[in-house]
Amino acid sequence: MDPATRPVDMLDAEAATAEVARLAEAIGRANKAYYQDDAPEISDADYDAMLARLMAIEARFPALARPDSPTQGVGARPASGFAPFAHARPMLSLENGFAAADVLDFEARVRRFLSLAPDEPLVLTAEAKIDGLSLSLRYEGGRLVAAATRGDGSTGETVTANARTLADIPHRLPPGAPDPCEVRGEVYLGWEDFAALNAAQDAQGQKRFANPRNAAAGSLRQLDPAVTAARPLRFLAHGWGEMGRLPADTQFGMMQAIAGLGFPVSDTLERVEGAAGALAAWARLEARRPGLGFDIDGVVYKVDRLDWQERLGTVSRAPRWALAHKFPAEQALTRLMAIDIQVGRTGALTPVARLAPVSVGGVVVSNATLHNEDEIARLDLRVGDLVAVQRAGDVIPQVLGVRTPPDAHAALSPFIFPDHCPECGSAAVREPGEAARRCTGGLSCPAQRLERLKHFVSRRALDIEGLAVRSLEQFIAAGWVSTPADIFRLPARRASLAALDGWGEASAANLAAAIESRRAPALDRFLFALGIRHVGEVTARDIARRWASWQAIEALLDALVAHDPPPAPGESPERHGKRLAEEWAARVEVAGVGPEVARALRDFWAEPHNRATVRDLLALVAPAELLHEARASPIAGKTLVFTGTLELSSRDEARATAERLGARVAGSVSSKTDLVVAGRDAGSKLDKARALGVDVIDEQAWTALVSEASHASGA
Ligand code: ZN
Repeated sequence: MDPATRPVDMLDAEAATAEVARLAEAIGRANKAYYQDDAPEISDADYDAMLARLMAIEARFPALARPDSPTQGVGARPASGFAPFAHARPMLSLENGFAAADVLDFEARVRRFLSLAPDEPLVLTAEAKIDGLSLSLRYEGGRLVAAATRGDGSTGETVTANARTLADIPHRLPPGAPDPCEVRGEVYLGWEDFAALNAAQDAQGQKRFANPRNAAAGSLRQLDPAVTAARPLRFLAHGWGEMGRLPADTQFGMMQAIAGLGFPVSDTLERVEGAAGALAAWARLEARRPGLGFDIDGVVYKVDRLDWQERLGTVSRAPRWALAHKFPAEQALTRLMAIDIQVGRTGALTPVARLAPVSVGGVVVSNATLHNEDEIARLDLRVGDLVAVQRAGDVIPQVLGVRTPPDAHAALSPFIFPDHCPECGSAAVREPGEAARRCTGGLSCPAQRLERLKHFVSRRALDIEGLAVRSLEQFIAAGWVSTPADIFRLPARRASLAALDGWGEASAANLAAAIESRRAPALDRFLFALGIRHVGEVTARDIARRWASWQAIEALLDALVAHDPPPAPGESPERHGKRLAEEWAARVEVAGVGPEVARALRDFWAEPHNRATVRDLLALVAPAELLHEARASPIAGKTLVFTGTLELSSRDEARATAERLGARVAGSVSSKTDLVVAGRDAGSKLDKARALGVDVIDEQAWTALVSEASHASGA
């Protein structure tokens, strides 16, 4: 058999020697063709196969591995992209704590879980948490066979060739090392090396790295290991994965053993007792932090005893036996360049601070959240101010306050929060008790378009079958749909619709039919579908029952908008606003509609964009008038409660009858209840109705009432 095709475990020493020489030569030639001549001679797959075979032979005959072997890193060409690497044991993430209380909780949880006696010591390890990139190194037969990033914790990216270029990572372990042996730690970049790297990036006209962690990640994940080799990356071990055997029975002992195998281990690692010891270690490290020379973002505590770690186990991918205690957020000063207003999907106007870019804890920050207009007023932020900015973890940076000298601050113009939506120009109103100002142009505002349309076609609104959110997005992108009326113009576009990605003749025809079937929606569904703030299904139904036709509702809305008397002498704006809302509510004449809903109805209709959009829609859709029956009935608009056992009809049927006659059925008795129908064995609801003086009738009387009502309405 040709030695070149013989399985590695069937090679004798002589054949292996020949194979190593042959493969090294072939790989060297391929590297030269690839790197120097820019003219690859063999496929990536063939190259990978040769490299894998050479590694396998070297693993079996360690004496044959030459220092200049292509498997030893620099010059070796990684596979196209990064091959996935399945971790033998998942790479877990750590639970974060931010305050001393979190550390005390951690100790208490561990003690409770293990049922430790109060006087039993709980020994923890504490070490600096390096802000870098996690890496797992796998050794088999004492040789580095794979290096992989964390990835999603189960599967990472194979970066073996790149990892080999790090001076801190041994290629071989001393005899007697566990087999397999997986050592895990952090790849990072020191501050000086980071500054030098960014200077070099500048000089070459390349993009600067935002922080040392990004630079370390970008450097390790290079398709060309020669680039990785040129970056002064460092590695610090902090744990392990799969191990053939455990050389110690404590976390601390394990890390000493790993150091003994030739891995750098943090010199901050120490044993402490309980939360008190942990907090003292944290304070020491916080003091040392400015002089460490590399970024750390907290202290990691681990339960020292491995048998306890085993018992504690993990919960949602984080071990119960470890806690990352973060350092407080970092701050910086910078200039507030502008305050932009963003409109959310539900119409809320959110201010965003635009800042002169500033580095906060190594991350360049140029935007910060301002929450709402009260926050701007509270801080008295003015464009041009010098402001303190804080960043904590991955949270959006925050403006803490103004640091401009008072004279200079006074010379700046106060910020005036817009009272119109920057997206659509509709009025933006702030309801009493609400923090956010909202755009009232719901139906016409581009920022709210998708949400409004989603609501419009949803099952409880117009219920247009087959119009998924993804399709809506498609139609919006195609420029076909921007208002509810446009949905009813879709059937006319059937041909182009059928040609759209993911559509066809049949699905286009189905959608067109579903839309056509909704041209006369029930009045309450139509009202609900408009998405007026505070007008939910029940309110829409109550209003529809009282007013019975869209024409009547529109006349009501016009009357609400027209009713706008000026403040009475001495009346405060708040009092005036409240009075108006109460007067609007009275005009709606529906028990469930109070000042809040009435104001929302009025604001909606006061916005000309909305009126235009609704009228556009009404040219294509005719909401069905409510049945005469519901209007004429003596219980229309009343709130009913059924209690006890009904014998002449089921509870469901009684409820449906009541609703058909325009009543609203509630589950419990309150002062708003108009009538209680008490069946057999009625209990506490009946007592309550009597206590409140609510009218009560029995089932016989109810049946008579129904018959009379049905007769009166001609049903
Ligand atoms: Zn808007």
